[in-house]
Amino acid sequence: DTAVKVCTGCGAPLQAEHPERPGYIVAAAMEKEHPVCRRCFRIKHYNEVAPVAIHDDEFIKIVSEIGRKKALVVKVIDLFDFSGSWVENLRRYIGTNPVLLVANKVDLLPRQTNLDKVEQWLRKEVEKKGIVLEGVALVSASKGHYVEQVKTFIERFANDRDVYVVGTANVGKSTLINRLIRMFGEKGDVELTTSRYPGTTLSTVQLALPNYSHMIVDTPGIMTFHRLTDLVCPKCLKLITPDKTIDPKVYQLNDKQTLFAGGLARFDFVQGERQSFVCYFANQLDIHRTKLENADSLYAKHVGGLLVPPCEDCGDHLRDLVTHKLKFKQGPNSDIVISGLGWISVRGDACEVHLQVPRGVDVTVRRAII
Ligand code: GDP
Repeated sequence: DTAVKVCTGCGAPLQAEHPERPGYIVAAAMEKEHPVCRRCFRIKHYNEVAPVAIHDDEFIKIVSEIGRKKALVVKVIDLFDFSGSWVENLRRYIGTNPVLLVANKVDLLPRQTNLDKVEQWLRKEVEKKGIVLEGVALVSASKGHYVEQVKTFIERFANDRDVYVVGTANVGKSTLINRLIRMFGEKGDVELTTSRYPGTTLSTVQLALPNYSHMIVDTPGIMTFHRLTDLVCPKCLKLITPDKTIDPKVYQLNDKQTLFAGGLARFDFVQGERQSFVCYFANQLDIHRTKLENADSLYAKHVGGLLVPPCEDCGDHLRDLVTHKLKFKQGPNSDIVISGLGWISVRGDACEVHLQVPRGVDVTVRRAII
């Protein structure tokens, strides 16, 4: 029998290759009489939401439902990678429903960060995208910092609306929801149910809140392909994902000097007075400084060795580098953001820099946030 087996919980076709995608099950369990995917298993047995990532089409079908309902949208982004974690065209999907922006992973920002300034910057960025925010909360879902604000906000603004939690994969939606489940659960039993969205194989998780008439709905995370975190192998992912507060690293450079962030980004200071550049990357990522004239041969010789990631398992696509030529006038500090990796802050002096990153990775420049 070659028919595709489906999860008896959510209806997704079962597969044993991609843990983060719908229908994942360990191969051995596939032969059971009523197989359920790992996500449905966890929801049923542990009252816990597990993340799942899907492609555009299915995501659009699911979030477009929101626009037809009375909803409160909780949009979760990753503070370490704002532009990489933004869902494009959100306004179109959600209609005029109110939005709470939850900026997660605040624990990663250096201690001297002015959070008020970060919040203002976020509001501006989101408003540029045509979205009016009811509120902004800077939280750490994993540490539990300020998640109380999200709960309070939901209690205050949801009224007769269901709450939809929306975001790209890996921003921490599941971590946040599991924490909310525990917090709301203090008042009584929280019931988790799954329900299938029309026209998709995928179910969403609904959390019925005791003493309230509304539900919290977890939508699956949309997959992206323009973040370095989407493109490296799982082992290298650990090397570029910050797991604790970032220690900024300051480099005083003369022109014609180069920094390598592993072998994933090459930063050439081409022209300008001696000045400092500040790197905000995962602490465990090695940064190498060299002369610009030696940079080509250093890369050729040491990529995959001294300059990791990328490693052998990452594949060759990460060695196809594209150059972004950037000129800065004297003025306010700027951040050069490499999606999924971090950013380099330019300290307000006139300079020209050339940044090389793997093809397909987003590079953006913004006013410095720190
Ligand atoms: P989802 O795909 O959006 O549901 O994201 P997950 O909840 O699975 O989280 C993705 C990754 O981010 C996991 O490795 C989490 O441990 C991590 N993470 C989640 N919340 C936080 C946070 O507040 N701070 C930090 N540093 N990491 C977090």
